[in-house]
Amino acid sequence: MYLSEYSGPIHAWVRRHFPGTTVEHRALILAEEAGEAVRCVSKMVTGSRGTPEEWRAKLYEEIGDVFIALAALAVYADIDFDQAVEDRWVTIEARDPHAIR
Ligand SMILES: [Mg+2]
Repeated sequence: MYLSEYSGPIHAWVRRHFPGTTVEHRALILAEEAGEAVRCVSKMVTGSRGTPEEWRAKLYEEIGDVFIALAALAVYADIDFDQAVEDRWVTIEARDPHAIR
């Protein structure tokens, strides 16, 4: 499944499970999920309350959560997620075309 194919199912999932959600709420959820991912990195580095391997496994989940939250925010902001990523990547790639591909 390509990343672009997740936008539709994520939109349907959010509408079904979180009716009345606003773009502001989706932005807060993204921040929450990003914070959870950062917490995993912090714990992974310090080895606090679990092994680095356990925190890395949790980080794996949180990275998925961040992607889903980001895709949902794009839906609620009426932004084409794939196009936004593609447009930004073209810009980033142009900065250093020799380092990429
Ligand atoms: Mg999470």
